[in-house]
Amino acid sequence: MKNKAENKPHFVPDKLKNTGIYTKASHIGRRTKDEFGFINTPVYHGSTVCFPTAKSMRDRDAAYTYGLKSTPTIDALTDSLSELENAAGTCLQPSGLSAIISPLLAILEAGDHLLITDSVYQPTRIAATRLLSKLGIEVEYYDPLVGGAISQLFKSNTRAVLLESPGSQTFEMQDIDAIVEACKTKNIITLIDNTWASPLYYQPLSHGIDISINAGTKYLSGHSDLLLGYVSTNEKLWQQVSEMNYIQGLSASADDVSLALRGLRTMPLRMERHYESGMIIADWLEDRPEVAQVLHPALESHPQHHLWEKSFSGANGLFSFILNDYTQEAVDNMVDHLDFFGLGYSWGGFESLVVSFDPTSYRTVTKWEAPGPALRLHIGLEDPRDLIADLEKGFERLRSFKS
Ligand SMILES: *Cc1c(COP(=O)(O)O)cnc(C)c1O
Repeated sequence: MKNKAENKPHFVPDKLKNTGIYTKASHIGRRTKDEFGFINTPVYHGSTVCFPTAKSMRDRDAAYTYGLKSTPTIDALTDSLSELENAAGTCLQPSGLSAIISPLLAILEAGDHLLITDSVYQPTRIAATRLLSKLGIEVEYYDPLVGGAISQLFKSNTRAVLLESPGSQTFEMQDIDAIVEACKTKNIITLIDNTWASPLYYQPLSHGIDISINAGTKYLSGHSDLLLGYVSTNEKLWQQVSEMNYIQGLSASADDVSLALRGLRTMPLRMERHYESGMIIADWLEDRPEVAQVLHPALESHPQHHLWEKSFSGANGLFSFILNDYTQEAVDNMVDHLDFFGLGYSWGGFESLVVSFDPTSYRTVTKWEAPGPALRLHIGLEDPRDLIADLEKGFERLRSFKS
């Protein structure tokens, strides 16, 4: 939560208003002249801020009042993100998961009904079951392909809809415009977990969404070395959301914020490369005899490719594919011995990763039907031909596996 002091530093120079994303990423969040010529905003480690006089302390008349409320390092990042998100304000959380929970706690109260997509990031579902339900909030899941028919699920107490597009692991694209339109007629708040597209490839607030949620842990960090979340809102909800964020005592460490600012400088470049390499490998997988289907919104074969094409300006290195009918042991034999794909959760770093997953274990309102086991890949910044050679050897192990 920010105070209203006039003397706050300005981190988004007017000269950036109409520039391209690469220029923005290079110049935003800096005040080089005020930092003795040093290019980067310093890492302010701080809790206490001393006021010049008792009166200014009473009136909270200072650019900064307490470390939890903000620091110049935090402002450099949040002001930059607000510019990219076209938002009234942005607040930070210690993780992407807490960036999902914090705004929900701000806008919901006991007796409210919340709709969540059935393709949601799995820990969000666990938080809804264990935390929101305990607070008397009624949670219901919806088919990610519902589109404008979501209005049939609205009840008199429906307060908010939480979207995620494409869906975690399964990559269904939602008709966001149709859902937003339906929600607007009933004054229902829309939130979206926009981690996959990031503000570089989709700006939710420009499409009428009220709250944009991101795991900065992923491409903003880009190096698998920190956890960070952020929430950007429109003017209407900013006070409410930022206040609740403060009341919960949420912020992020100064060093992590500084690393995220560093990540931002190269994020457009890295994203472009992840996107390009991801497409090369997704195309290659589509022709493999072991593969039943590749789930990548930027592929023409994706069932909701038109929705990606309509609203998103890019993709990244994260997608899934479904194998033909192989046993789990055979799949394990494939992924256990890959040279360049780590077996790890999360994504968005420079390194390639693979995760084996089964949506039947957590879906509730939609049925997952697939001919075989599924794998999610994160394509890192390695040379695609090395990754392809690695996967090719993996497919050999898959085919030749004898139990
Ligand atoms: C990783 C992820 C999160 C959570 O981020 P953490 O920082 O790991 O808590 C939230 N949503 C999506 C879509 C994610 O992929």
